[in-house]
Amino acid sequence: MNRKIGPIVIIVLALLVIEVLYFSFGAKRRVELDSGHQLVMGTFARVVAVAKDSSTAKKCIQAALVEIRKVDERMSDYKDDSEISELNRDGAKRAVRVSESTYEVLQTSIEFSELTGGAFDITVGPLVDLFHSAEEETVAPSKEQIAQAKSKVGYEKLKLNSQNRTVKFSVDGMRVDLGGIAKGYAIDKAVEAMQTCGAIGGMVDIGGDIRCFGAPAKGKDHWLIGLQDPNVPFESSGDIVIPAQVGISAGEPLLVLKLTDAAVATSGGYRRFALIEGKKYSHIIDTKTGYSSVQLTSVTIISKNATDADALATAVSVMGAEKGLALIEKLPQTEAILIPLQPKLQLIKTSGAEKYIK
Ligand code: AMP
Ligand code: MG
Repeated sequence: MNRKIGPIVIIVLALLVIEVLYFSFGAKRRVELDSGHQLVMGTFARVVAVAKDSSTAKKCIQAALVEIRKVDERMSDYKDDSEISELNRDGAKRAVRVSESTYEVLQTSIEFSELTGGAFDITVGPLVDLFHSAEEETVAPSKEQIAQAKSKVGYEKLKLNSQNRTVKFSVDGMRVDLGGIAKGYAIDKAVEAMQTCGAIGGMVDIGGDIRCFGAPAKGKDHWLIGLQDPNVPFESSGDIVIPAQVGISAGEPLLVLKLTDAAVATSGGYRRFALIEGKKYSHIIDTKTGYSSVQLTSVTIISKNATDADALATAVSVMGAEKGLALIEKLPQTEAILIPLQPKLQLIKTSGAEKYIK
């Protein structure tokens, strides 16, 4: 090689190698940003976004939180100016027009009522109210009070008009409660917003219901989600996402789920219940009996989207192990992990659940 050209060739080759390395690392560069716990929908929410750069990740987190707040503003029954509060005030007097998203949740809820033989029923409101007042008065509701509330419950009493996007109650005193599905819907909307915004991965957790997509940064293949032992609460550790819940203290997760593009929701009496005359009443009510469902301590559903996981977790809590498992086995890409109410810890799983367990 020519003495003068030799060093030039070496320099050019070295520059080429640097450029190739720069671009291959640049393409793989992923930033992960975490919103931390935010108080919304009466619980804690947490959003994690994975993107090529931190400004995209930041924008995606903001977009996700905007969606979650929008769902809360429209569908909360705690907010007087929400669409659901308007429906609950006026629904027996007139057909109430709602936004597309609220209509979608109402329609999906009715579909889940039909799918679960009425186990999932958002018209449960009057029974929820009755147990709230019973808790405040520390006196269990009478049979007459239960029968009276039940007469105002039943999804077939909810009349939806898709053309006008209106909803009407066919019985006075009805009340819709989206507590069993709205968190899941908000999670799905937040994930959609993050994907539109350019996130290549992400995780949205609202009150312990979670959906993730893509992969976390730092070269990991799955999102790891800790499942709580109902008897031993625990706290976050390492890479395992501990579902956002109120009042959790130290302990180990019962098992760890590995998820990529999937959602997980857990329902159960161990989380929220009313204590009346020394007896625990779960916040999930079987509208057929008018009393809270008692067979299962915890129901975890793994599904493709969070709306389905949320509604099905509530429904299976009412249906019990046998009927609930039979339903979940029939549904594609849906699995269940149940903990029956008994002193000795036992896990009942659907046939495909194992592949999600680490
Ligand atoms: P989750 O934590 O998703 O199981 O939702 C529980 C909440 O859903 C309760 O606090 C009630 O607001 C509401 N709920 C109670 N019973 C039912 C039911 N049978 N079907 C639908 N929603 C219900
Ligand atoms: Mg639910």
